[in-house]
Amino acid sequence: MVYYRKFRPQKFADILGQEHIVQTLTNALSSGDFSHGYLFAGPRGTGKTTLARVMAKALNCTGRSLAKDSFEPCNKCSSCKEITLGRSLDLIEIDAASNRGIDEIRDLREKIRFAPTKSKYKIYIIDEVHMLTKEAFNALLKTLEEPPKHAIFMMATTEPQKILPTILSRVQRFDFRRAELEELKKLLKKIAQAEAIKIDDEAIGLLAQLSTGSYRDALSLFGQISSVRKTIASNITLEQIQQILGLAQDKSVFDFAEALAMGNRKLAFELISKLNLQGIDFENFTVKLIETLRKIALWELGEDQLFDLTHEYQDKVKKMAEIFEINLLMKMIEKFALALPQIKSASIPQLPLEMIVFEFTKSCHSEQSNVTLSEAKSLSRMRDVTETSSEILPPPRRGQNDKNKSTKNLNQDLWTEIIKGAKAHNHSLAALLKDAVLAETCDNTITLAFKFKFHADIISGKRNTQAIEGIILKNTGTAYKLNCIVNPELVVKKPTDSEDELLSGAKEVFEVEE
Ligand SMILES: [Zn+2]
Repeated sequence: MVYYRKFRPQKFADILGQEHIVQTLTNALSSGDFSHGYLFAGPRGTGKTTLARVMAKALNCTGRSLAKDSFEPCNKCSSCKEITLGRSLDLIEIDAASNRGIDEIRDLREKIRFAPTKSKYKIYIIDEVHMLTKEAFNALLKTLEEPPKHAIFMMATTEPQKILPTILSRVQRFDFRRAELEELKKLLKKIAQAEAIKIDDEAIGLLAQLSTGSYRDALSLFGQISSVRKTIASNITLEQIQQILGLAQDKSVFDFAEALAMGNRKLAFELISKLNLQGIDFENFTVKLIETLRKIALWELGEDQLFDLTHEYQDKVKKMAEIFEINLLMKMIEKFALALPQIKSASIPQLPLEMIVFEFTKSCHSEQSNVTLSEAKSLSRMRDVTETSSEILPPPRRGQNDKNKSTKNLNQDLWTEIIKGAKAHNHSLAALLKDAVLAETCDNTITLAFKFKFHADIISGKRNTQAIEGIILKNTGTAYKLNCIVNPELVVKKPTDSEDELLSGAKEVFEVEE
């Protein structure tokens, strides 16, 4: 069903919004003092040509009483009926978007001299008039300079800035505004009622939002929805619309956003790895993630942009907004946006995401994995505290699997032990480790942070890694894996060693892996 055509207003009273324009035009009709050239400017779907047709109808209506305050076309006389059916010989519609040529305007110029076939006025509606070629424009201008008394021009455009000033100076201009949400809702409700289609209020709200100020879009969306509803008896729901229009959100995006909200690094990394195995398009994923984070930020700032989400996801956004600190969230959105081109070109597409996860989440607390979102706020505060601390982090609480293993804590003492062990193994290796910070112990991985990539690369070498892992195993009884990361902002309080010793150390332990 083409609702746009079926419900097109046929009189001024049916026109929604644009009250200021309707008021001026109907005043002109009532007084008989109207212009011979009009320009209707405004966004698409706001009713420009609809209003032009109603105006044309009123101008040529023979059933309209000429008494004061009677401006509505009768919709009963032969002129009105012909215009409704698109058969009036005295209403000429030119779509400049598909008909840009000078020939049409020449034709117009030739025929405009002749009197109307049977009506009082010969009315030209030129839609998307800015699309006319320069020659056609000039030809039109000549006509507008000295129009015959029986001719009336109504031009519509979505791009008034492209209209020549010489044309603008010869017409009365009206600017159409976008439809307001409430007007669109009112229209949709009216049509649902007229068509006996049951639809939930929130579903109407979503359709109105998606129409972005266009009556035409609202009606065509409504047509799309009503044609696929399941049964006549049941209401069209918000969820159905989301499904039909493909607005359903990816669960994975929300899961990932929640992991970020909770600062749960382990979970975030697991999700990335899972998505990678599924062969997901990380670029698309990141775009959706940014959209979701944006919704959370806007909600925190008091803006409701949740209309295209299901209730379940709306609740999730609201809960995440409670946890996310707004500045952190903004920074995160910026980082993900900047990472987009990198994701496109990276040989490991998930790497840019992983880097951001690393930056915005802190040490992996194993007890954090099972935390619920509502419990996460305190954790997020905890995170803020640890963020400023460059202290060595306490070891994770051990899970049940680790019961039989050594319970020796990975603390400062252990770190000293490891450096001591390294010194016995290779004096220079120890010098390098002194320049690192034990950043994290998570499950069976120990992460060392280095200020310089060069140093991290050396320690990451196979031989050095094996040596250090051996030392850790000896000291803890646990086979930890060594992981090296680079943090350029790292500040290390070095107890003794001089720069010289470190530099020479770097040279000694530098190894080339084949
Ligand atoms: Zn009439």
